[in-house]
Amino acid sequence: MKKAKNFIEHIIDEDLRNGFDKNKLRFRFPPEPNGYLHIGHVKAIVLNFELAKKYSAKINLRFDDTNPEREEQKYIDAIKSDIKWLNYKWDNELYASDYFQTLHDWAVNLIENDKAYVDSQNSEKIASQKGTPTEPGLNSPFRDRPIEESLAMFKKMTIGHYKQGENVLRAKIDMSSPNMLMRDPVIYRVINKPHPRTKDKWIVYPMYDWTHGESDYIEQISHSLCTLEFKPHRELYDWFLDQVVDSNKIRPKQREFARLNLSHTITSKRKLLFLVENNIVDGWDDPRMPTISGLRRRGYSPNSLKKFVETAGVAKRENIIEMSLLEFCVREDLNKKCNRLMVVQDPIKIFLTNYEKLEEKLILENNPESSTAGSRDVMFSKNLYIERDDFMENPTKKFFRLSLENEVRLKGAYIIKANKVIKDPQGNITEVHCTYDPKSKSGSGSPESQRKVKATLHWVSQPHSVPIEIREYERLFNHPSPADFDTAEFDKILNKDSIKKFNGFGEKVLEKSNAGESFQFQRKGYYVADTNSNKNGLVFNKTVSLRDNYKK
Ligand code: ATP
Ligand code: MG
Repeated sequence: MKKAKNFIEHIIDEDLRNGFDKNKLRFRFPPEPNGYLHIGHVKAIVLNFELAKKYSAKINLRFDDTNPEREEQKYIDAIKSDIKWLNYKWDNELYASDYFQTLHDWAVNLIENDKAYVDSQNSEKIASQKGTPTEPGLNSPFRDRPIEESLAMFKKMTIGHYKQGENVLRAKIDMSSPNMLMRDPVIYRVINKPHPRTKDKWIVYPMYDWTHGESDYIEQISHSLCTLEFKPHRELYDWFLDQVVDSNKIRPKQREFARLNLSHTITSKRKLLFLVENNIVDGWDDPRMPTISGLRRRGYSPNSLKKFVETAGVAKRENIIEMSLLEFCVREDLNKKCNRLMVVQDPIKIFLTNYEKLEEKLILENNPESSTAGSRDVMFSKNLYIERDDFMENPTKKFFRLSLENEVRLKGAYIIKANKVIKDPQGNITEVHCTYDPKSKSGSGSPESQRKVKATLHWVSQPHSVPIEIREYERLFNHPSPADFDTAEFDKILNKDSIKKFNGFGEKVLEKSNAGESFQFQRKGYYVADTNSNKNGLVFNKTVSLRDNYKK
C-alpha cells in the first residue's frame, strides 16, 4: 500500500511544481548538543532523513552549538551514535560554530547598515522594556547610539573588554511589532566559557535564532523543518535572511510540524538532565528513559521506533500519543524477530516421582512466526521449575493451571499431574511432587500426546538451567502528562517504585546471549540482554509484555 503524503511532502511537491530545482532540495537535522536524543527527536530525524531518501536529496547533520554553557563533546558523540543506530547516514557533519566568523562578519554588516546596535543595559532592564503582546515595548535609550560607537563597542565585546551581561548586540527591528520576538531581539552576548569546539577563540556568542537561519542559508538548506513552537520565530527567521540573502542562491524555507508528545513521559532535554543529575535514573541510557539510548537498552529496535513515529504521523497540530502505541510497535516487531525460550521468574520446584531417565533432549521450535528460525535442544529431567503462581494447592474456581490431582502440559514436553505438596516448617510450599504421562510427549503423534488439558506451562529443568536476573520497569511518572510539571514538582509525580528485580532461571542457551539481544520469554513477554549482562551474571530487561494490559 502506498503511504499517504504528509503535509510537508505536499509543500515540497508544490515548490517543485512551481519550478524549484529538484537537485537543490536539501535537508538537515539540527540538534543542540546539550543532552541525549529522545523519542521526540526520532520523529524529526525520521522526517528529515526519509525526505532526503524520498527526494534523493542531501541531508546534513548540523550541531547547533551556540551555547557553550550547556554543550559538551560527549553529547555530540552520543547523538551521532544514536542516529547511526537508527540506520541513517548523513551526507555532511557540520557545526554552527564553524560559521562563527561569517556570522560575526554579517553582524558587523548589520551594525553598519543601522540594523543592529549595542545595548548597554542588563537583561532585566531589557526585559522590562519588552512590553506585552497587546502593548508595544519601549525603545532602549541606546537604540540610536551612533553606528560608529556600536561598531567600536561590538569590537570591544569581541575581544573580551566587557564582562558578561554588560553589553549585548540587538537587532534593530520594531519595538511595537505585534510579534514580541521582533522587538529588537538580542543577537550576541558575552559568555566567558570555553566552547567544546572553538575553545577560547570566542567571547561573544551568537544567539540561536540568528545562528539557526543563517546556518541554514550557509548550507543552502531548501526546507528547514522545525517544531511548532518556532512558528512565531518564522518572521524573525525571514527578517534575518533578508539581511544576507543573495538573489541567485537558495532562500531556505522554515516550516513547522507538531512535536511528538508521549503520554506518561517527558521529552525535554533539560528535564531529562535533571533526572540524570539527581540520580533519579541510572544515567541517560537508563531503560526507563525516553531517550534513544534508554529505549535501546530497554530492547526497542530501530524499526519499532521508526514505525512508531510514522504511525503517529506528521501533523500540524499538537497532540499526545499514547505510550501503548509505542509498545504495540515494538511488540509487533519483536514478535517476528525473536526466538522464544523458557524462563521461570519466581520458581517453585517440581519433582517427577515416576521419571526414571537421567535426562532427555527435547526439540522445541524457536519461532513459529519465522520459517527460518529453526529449533533448539531443551533438556528435560525429573527436577524442574515452574512459576510459583502457576500452581495452587487449593485452586479457585477459574484456576486451570496446575493444582492437586489436576493435569497440565509442560510446553514441548509431557502432561504432568500434581500429587503431593511438600512444605517447610512455616507452611510455605517448597516442592510439588508430580507424575508424568510417558506417552504424552508433545509431537510424538500418540493418542496421549493429543489429549487436551486446560493449560500449557513453561518450565526449565533445574540441572540444565542458568540463574538470571530479570528487571521489570514501570513508568517513571504516575501522572499521564508529566510534561505539564516543572522539575521542582517532580517529587509529587515520580513513581518511586519503577524498577523491580527478580532472580529466576532460564534455559542454558541464555549463557551465550549477547548484550542487546532480544528474546521472547514464553508466556511472559519480550526481554533484552542488558548492556552489562554477562559481566557479573546474566541480566535481562523486560521490554514489553506479550499483550497490551494497559487500561485505556
Ligand atoms: P529539548 O526541548 O528537549 O531540548 P530541542 O527542541 O531544544 O528539545 P534540539 O536539539 O534543538 O532539541 O532539537 C533538534 C531538532 O529536533 C529540532 O528540529 C527540534 O524541533 C526537533 N525536536 C525536538 N523535540 C522534538 C519532539 N518532541 N518532536 C519532534 N521534533 C522534536
Ligand atoms: Mg532546541
